Amino acid sequence: MASSSHDRAVLHNGVQMPWVGLGVYKAEDGDEVIQAIKWAIDAGYRSIDTASLYENEAGVGQAIAESHVPREELFITTKVWNTDQGYERTLEAFNASLERLGLDYVDLYLVHWPVPEMYKETWKALEKIYNDGRAKAIGVSNFKKHHLEDLIADAEIKPMVNQVEYHPRLTQEDLLSYCKEKGIQLEAWRPLLKGEIFEEPTLVELAEKYNKSVAQIILRWDLQNGVVTIPKSVTKNRIEENIDIFDFELTNKDMSRISALNQDKRNGADPDDPEFYKQFD
Ligand code: NAD
Repeated sequence: MASSSHDRAVLHNGVQMPWVGLGVYKAEDGDEVIQAIKWAIDAGYRSIDTASLYENEAGVGQAIAESHVPREELFITTKVWNTDQGYERTLEAFNASLERLGLDYVDLYLVHWPVPEMYKETWKALEKIYNDGRAKAIGVSNFKKHHLEDLIADAEIKPMVNQVEYHPRLTQEDLLSYCKEKGIQLEAWRPLLKGEIFEEPTLVELAEKYNKSVAQIILRWDLQNGVVTIPKSVTKNRIEENIDIFDFELTNKDMSRISALNQDKRNGADPDDPEFYKQFD
């Protein structure tokens, strides 16, 4: 289990991935995202999670270029958006992302959503990008077990990561154990439920018990479950707080109390909802 911010998860191809990264969804391109990343790097983050959808890859790239940290220490993730899926379009979208980021490789490239009828062709493009050495690892996002099974049946390369909505209201225990069994690293998006769970009495009680914030309790629960986590903030003290989770350990009983808050309740779209994909037709 991660015991310092320098510890990394080891993906099935041997690539190391920080346990905590900075999410930058809805961080504005330009000053806002650049400043957030600089604060994050100063606080010890080495991993940044963006996507072409977020329209801030240029700012992410600028922050990386201006950072004092060598490129090889950083772990940069971006994703192919739904309207860019398919083999050729994904290759083009990847080139455009690299250009905006000002990089010659990313650490992790993800299929953002399992767009029906499309994701297998998209995956072939990711395999090519990986084989060409332009992504150190490739993975998927919002894939349920059936999507993973379907993909793996035809894939040359098994995804190294699956980034999914994951928090105490959506603990996805079956998916987590399936991914562990297959050597696919689970990564939590919206880990803090955008703060909407901060008043939950069990979490407030545990925060008092461990003398930590509710955000820190939740993020620590991610780590102890073996889940990589990418909380978002553009506020300096919150960015610092969200990575300050390596100096305490939740007991097994407290881990179970948090997991018992599960309601199988999504905040974002259900990856099987056809209505969600219709907007991209
Ligand atoms: P989140 O759960 O990380 O919540 C972020 C919000 O919580 C912040 O805007 C802030 O209001 C609050 N917050 C953060 N730290 C806090 C603290 N210490 N104290 C009090 N409030 C705090 O939500 P998110 O941004 O949706 O998810 C995190 C990241 O996951 C995104 O930025 C993005 O990188 C990724 N993501 C991926 C997908 C996907 O489909 N793959 C979808 C959504 C998000």
